[in-house]
Amino acid sequence: MMLGLVLARAGVEVTVLEKHDDFLRDFRGDTVHASTLTLLDELGLGDRFAAVPHQRLERLRLPLRRNAPLDVDLRLLRGPHKHIAMVPQWDLLDMLADVALEEPSFSLRMGAEVFALLREGGRVAGVRYGDDGGDHELRAPLTVACDGRGSHVRAASGLRVREFGVPLDVWWFRLPRREGDPDGVSGRVGGGATLIMIDRGSYFQLGYQIRKGADAELRAAGIETLRERVAALAPELADRVGELGGWEDVSLLTVRLNRMPRWFSGGLLCIGDAAHAMSPVGGVGINLAVQDAVAAGRVLATPLRRGDVRARDLARVQARRWAPTAFTQSLQRLIHRAVIRPGLEQRPTHDVRLPRRAVARLFALGLLPEHAPRFARRAHGSGA
Ligand SMILES: Cc1cc2nc3c(=O)[nH]c(=O)nc-3n(C[C@H](O)[C@H](O)[C@H](O)COP(=O)(O)OP(=O)(O)OC[C@H]3O[C@@H](n4cnc5c(N)ncnc54)[C@H](O)[C@@H]3O)c2cc1C
Repeated sequence: MMLGLVLARAGVEVTVLEKHDDFLRDFRGDTVHASTLTLLDELGLGDRFAAVPHQRLERLRLPLRRNAPLDVDLRLLRGPHKHIAMVPQWDLLDMLADVALEEPSFSLRMGAEVFALLREGGRVAGVRYGDDGGDHELRAPLTVACDGRGSHVRAASGLRVREFGVPLDVWWFRLPRREGDPDGVSGRVGGGATLIMIDRGSYFQLGYQIRKGADAELRAAGIETLRERVAALAPELADRVGELGGWEDVSLLTVRLNRMPRWFSGGLLCIGDAAHAMSPVGGVGINLAVQDAVAAGRVLATPLRRGDVRARDLARVQARRWAPTAFTQSLQRLIHRAVIRPGLEQRPTHDVRLPRRAVARLFALGLLPEHAPRFARRAHGSGA
């Protein structure tokens, strides 16, 4: 959606295909990072975003050290935004869609699922997709796969992806939050489990880490076991774990961490999780996906307007985003090894020693954050 908006503002004809009928899904994280907040300002959307109800996350308590969690204060950051905004992702996507639809060259087709690539002369020439009206073809000089960690487009492209093993999957569920409960985001580790608690105002979004592939086996033990474990990790929730009615209240989020050595081929570019699936560790994947989109918009607007996108243009997008991606994934893998895997296997965890300010920067801004290209900028508060 972000790439669509940026390109449409350059006058490029863009069609975004989304397989769901709406963005109302609850499993992609709700973080809008400080660097994305700055981007929204640059796009003239700061006021519009500020009107969307959200929580401000200014402090993180991260279970990176054995004896006490690492307290990170985002107010230490330099720059206009010193927090992460917690917003249901559908609100952000709806806002971006509304703004993009104000551009005459932008169109959005919801309920449109891509299932194959069109090829011509050895290049990708568009996609086949299905919707309520049947199957269709959409031809384009450039197809961008932004279809997430299970990317169908990437699979259809035959491009290679390098998988890094991950030790965890995540159970995702909610419990009510009351006056005096912890705010911000905090993590609890113990008894072979880690619980991440995300304050969403009236409720906690909870992420409970389980061993990779152990979902069926653990569910067979009964929902009471989960209630007991949550109460043991977060005693302040003991009085309400009964509100977890059954397993239907608990979604399994399958975690993957991988990266394509080459993010493109003739007529095709992969970005975001499609190019490099991020672990939920640190909650940074949305930021990386947004940054990829802005980088792609900046680099590709001119070649797309010329109608001549070459491999070297696509290579420039990958080159621009490679270091932040590889570095962030290395850090996630280190945390998997030092904290998550030993925690899940009930072994002693290792300390991950990082300076607080560096952690704040990495979480809230990311490495080499992108800025809106001039052609996409609008005056503050002007929206489109
Ligand atoms: C448990 C868990 C928690 C996480 N929490 C956070 C967090 O708090 N903060 C954070 O920053 N990151 C978090 N992440 C990582 C984050 O979700 C991803 O890195 C990020 O969503 C990637 O964005 P994306 O746009 O590339 O893909 P996605 O957000 O996955 O979006 C892909 C889109 O493509 C659509 N689509 C898929 N297939 C097709 C198709 N064939 N045709 C048409 N449309 C299609 C999907 O419906 C979806 O809308 C978490 C990940 C997991 C697994």
